[in-house]
Amino acid sequence: MLTVKAYAATSATEPLAPTTIERRDLGPHDVLIDIRYSGICHSDIHTARSEWGPTTYPIVVGHEIAGVVREVGPEVTKFTAGDRVGVGCMVDSCRECDNCRKGLEQYCLNGNIGTYGGFDRDGQPTQGGYAQAIVVTEDFVLRIPDGIELDAAAPLLCAGITTYSPLRHWNAGPGSRVAVIGMGGLGHMAVKLAHAMGAEVTVLSQSLKKREDGLRLGADHYHATSDEETFTKLAGSFDLIINTVSAKIDLDAYLRLLAVDGTLVNVGAPEDPLSVHAFSLIPARRSFAGSMIGGIAETQEMLDFCAERGIGAEIEVIPAEKINQAYERVLASDVRYRFVIDASTF
Ligand SMILES: [Zn+2]
Ligand SMILES: [Zn+2]
Repeated sequence: MLTVKAYAATSATEPLAPTTIERRDLGPHDVLIDIRYSGICHSDIHTARSEWGPTTYPIVVGHEIAGVVREVGPEVTKFTAGDRVGVGCMVDSCRECDNCRKGLEQYCLNGNIGTYGGFDRDGQPTQGGYAQAIVVTEDFVLRIPDGIELDAAAPLLCAGITTYSPLRHWNAGPGSRVAVIGMGGLGHMAVKLAHAMGAEVTVLSQSLKKREDGLRLGADHYHATSDEETFTKLAGSFDLIINTVSAKIDLDAYLRLLAVDGTLVNVGAPEDPLSVHAFSLIPARRSFAGSMIGGIAETQEMLDFCAERGIGAEIEVIPAEKINQAYERVLASDVRYRFVIDASTF
């Protein structure tokens, strides 16, 4: 066993605090990764605070992990010491069900094993990326190409793939009109990726505060949703809308912005049920959909795509002691656009 420094939540109400955790001995197919950077995702906060059902404490969250391979198990073929690698939201799945066989491990019919808050094959609870090192089976380790800095790469492992996958699935590209609701951690990645794919990109944000950033990151248009006129002006004008907001929004109002056959995809996850009027869908054959991260092969494709085009996340690097402060700032939407923890400070 390897003892590593980490930051853990010990209850739903206590701040995260320094601790140590054990990482398992290397199995034949395991990779030991020295974590360099770990992104802060809104899901980390929901989990640390038991907002998505009861969490088992103590828990180390974090599923946007970028680092360097320290050591590999004897049967590992894909990685060697010194490789730049990442780990996202999953560390394993059943690998046998129909979805796993199709490369859709995120939709594993037996449930994928989450990077934190799950149970690994050895029965031990999984602990995530707010730590100095992690051990992961090679098939769930991603290669981070040289074209991206490790700190800017970390958020790609959740925020990047969460937006890349639906953009690809619904064919964002030249000639398609994509709108992104929300200009936060997920939203800013959706803007960069949709722009890089060649789509015409519109940001729908509460205010125009981040307009300059949005246009700089690749948006062609930027509208405030606090302005009622936005909804009349843009009616029927998008092929795809990616909703990154995890708060409740007026879905009917946004669905009416879709053209015929348009799709609104939810990647944000509000706590309360959403309601949709059937007549927001029927008169234009519209779809309301959801999407969750991406499979392992698709995540690698996304990292390669980003490296080729020089795309990383817009980040603010913080030391571990600022995690609790960063959580408050995430909740206040006061981050441009992702916090990344420097793992040397754990
Ligand atoms: Zn996440
Ligand atoms: Zn499966």
